[in-house]
Amino acid sequence: MVTVKLNNNVEMPILGFGVYQIDDQKECERSVLDALEVGYRLIDTASAYRNETSVGNAIKTSGVKREEMFITTKLWIKDAGYENTLKAFDKSLKKLQLDYLDLYLIHQPFNDVYGSWRAMEKLYKDGKIRVVGVSNFHMDRLTDLMVYNEIPPAVNQIEIHPFHQRYQDVEYMAAQGIQPEAWAPFAEGRNNLFENKLLVALAEKYYKTVAQIVLRSLIQRSIVVIPKSSKRARIAENFDVFDFEIDEQDMELLKQLDKQESAFFSHRDPEIVKWMSGFERD
Ligand code: NAP
Repeated sequence: MVTVKLNNNVEMPILGFGVYQIDDQKECERSVLDALEVGYRLIDTASAYRNETSVGNAIKTSGVKREEMFITTKLWIKDAGYENTLKAFDKSLKKLQLDYLDLYLIHQPFNDVYGSWRAMEKLYKDGKIRVVGVSNFHMDRLTDLMVYNEIPPAVNQIEIHPFHQRYQDVEYMAAQGIQPEAWAPFAEGRNNLFENKLLVALAEKYYKTVAQIVLRSLIQRSIVVIPKSSKRARIAENFDVFDFEIDEQDMELLKQLDKQESAFFSHRDPEIVKWMSGFERD
């Protein structure tokens, strides 16, 4: 597996498996088992996805050595703050049936993120988490967190896909030593991504699929990708992206697809902040 080296020298796989919206517990367990069998080693879940137990079951029965895996989960908004974070972390670890976590992320940039971050620094120093990071932080919030804390985030998991390419943000994070990780690399299929003319043309040119073109283009930008699928054939297809290279000219062409805005919503929209903070996820 190709890896990226994080700012604390930990190696992170550049391709992983996401389990958002795999709500059926049996389906989640089977999908993670399929992914581990295919060769994925990074699994991305969150307490808010309510499937940590299924992910844990799959990890346990897979037979894959713990040290080969890179397991991520995330802290939800209602669990923010120093004491709450310590408790939420323990709960997640129990559900995942692990005794340490590879990557713990603050899921959203809301509520008492400073209290949470200090608890994560403690867990990191205690050897309970190998890497600490954040998700959905815009560059101003990211910088604020970096400047006023001892340990800088190693990863920022944000929306990146062909319709929201974020060249400037990725460049900024690279300069700060923060690894970008793309959520929804297929934009969850929005804007008819899988039928997009340019993507289909490139897929034909490289004898690959649209999904593989999308993932490869992000990997070539040194962005970690975590596509989700609950279908084994697609899980395998999405993993098969290391035997070709998109040339520079085509990488330039892909920039045409960038709409420079979210395909979902803005984390800076006050209505979204209120709406999300109302989610009682457990
Ligand atoms: P995504 O990976 O962009 O898209 C998933 C969709 O694409 C599913 O409908 C899947 O359908 C389909 N798909 C997958 N592979 C395909 C292929 N080869 N050909 C055609 N269709 C394919 O969306 P996502 O799940 O939202 O994002 C990926 C991961 O990022 C999540 O699972 C989660 O771990 C993470 N995430 C994080 C945040 C955050 O706030 N931090 C937000 C969103 C997502 P099937 O399942 O039917 O194959």
